[in-house]
Amino acid sequence: MKADRIYNFNAGPAALPLPVLEEIQESFLNFAGSGMSVTEISHRSKWFDDVINDAVTRVKRILQLDDRFHVLFVQGGASMQFCMVPMNLLGAGDSADYVNTGTWSTKAIKEAEIQGKSIHVVASSEDRNFAYIPKEIAFTPDAVYAHITSNNTIKGTQWAQFPDTGGAPIVSDMSSDIFSRPLDMDKFGLIYAGAQKNMGPAGVCLVIIRDDLLARTPGDIPTMLRYSTYANKNSMFNTPPCFAIYTVQLVLKWLEETIGGLGKMEELNRKKAGLLYDFIDQSDFYRATADKDSRSLMNVTFRLPSEELEAALVAAALKNGMGGLKGHRSVGGCRASIYNPTPLAAVESLVDFMKTFERDNG
Ligand SMILES: *Cc1c(COP(=O)(O)O)cnc(C)c1O
Repeated sequence: MKADRIYNFNAGPAALPLPVLEEIQESFLNFAGSGMSVTEISHRSKWFDDVINDAVTRVKRILQLDDRFHVLFVQGGASMQFCMVPMNLLGAGDSADYVNTGTWSTKAIKEAEIQGKSIHVVASSEDRNFAYIPKEIAFTPDAVYAHITSNNTIKGTQWAQFPDTGGAPIVSDMSSDIFSRPLDMDKFGLIYAGAQKNMGPAGVCLVIIRDDLLARTPGDIPTMLRYSTYANKNSMFNTPPCFAIYTVQLVLKWLEETIGGLGKMEELNRKKAGLLYDFIDQSDFYRATADKDSRSLMNVTFRLPSEELEAALVAAALKNGMGGLKGHRSVGGCRASIYNPTPLAAVESLVDFMKTFERDNG
């Protein structure tokens, strides 16, 4: 770690790999020999074509996507997808299933309802403040899609396995765990992920959509809200967020060339999360908030004996070079977001700090 940087446990925007930040810094004034910054070049230039095409190629290679899938970059964040998904996929007489596992799922459901779309909330974990992922869900066989949130950033839960929907393609909000593990793409019709958790800076949302769902795009919705607009124009119908896409490209390159792909990434993520959960589990001072079988490998949520101690831990951690440990304002407590870029050393350092804090305050 560089002397003037901290270990960053922010939930989003979140830590990026240091080599990526250094490459951006190095190339910032003269991108690819252009004599211009990547923020100054035309999105219609060969330079930017190379960036976006390489990013798309890497997404396809990393997830082993076949030709049915299209890779799009859309603005408006994951929140825009809450409305675009039902707007594009559900016509008159169609319906979709939704599973409610927390704040973001609730928002996705609300956006479908605002449009008067026919949706069924087939399961929810709201009864226990979303501390678990529902099991044995009765999905609707002829639903156009089944929407889930694969990782619940705020509540600290994650789908360990993806559900059997009886045929409906899964549409998943993967904002906080995209590229954290290999995926069986046969189950998915559409995946979306805001970049700023696991993949890049804020300002761009990755959308992966299968042919048959893309074909549902209606012609009577605004051009900028149609998936087909992005698919037909390589995500450049209008000016794309060039800098954000460039950073995503570099993170994907890091994932492939430095980490070694999704298998290796998952191994490392399991190791990091295991270290933290094992420590919390053997302690009487810290308490993990999510059910064991539903725990997130990305966002580790935990409580201390009092809110005063929680605030004290967050402050003391920052003094020791570890930031971003405060839980989301809607749930309180503490949260360590340990996305792909977070190195093992950061988690080791956090566990050491938590041991000392317990000894001094327990
Ligand atoms: C952060 C987050 C969102 C919202 O993302 P925006 O890009 O801010 O719209 C949606 N879903 C999940 C799972 C998130 O973690």
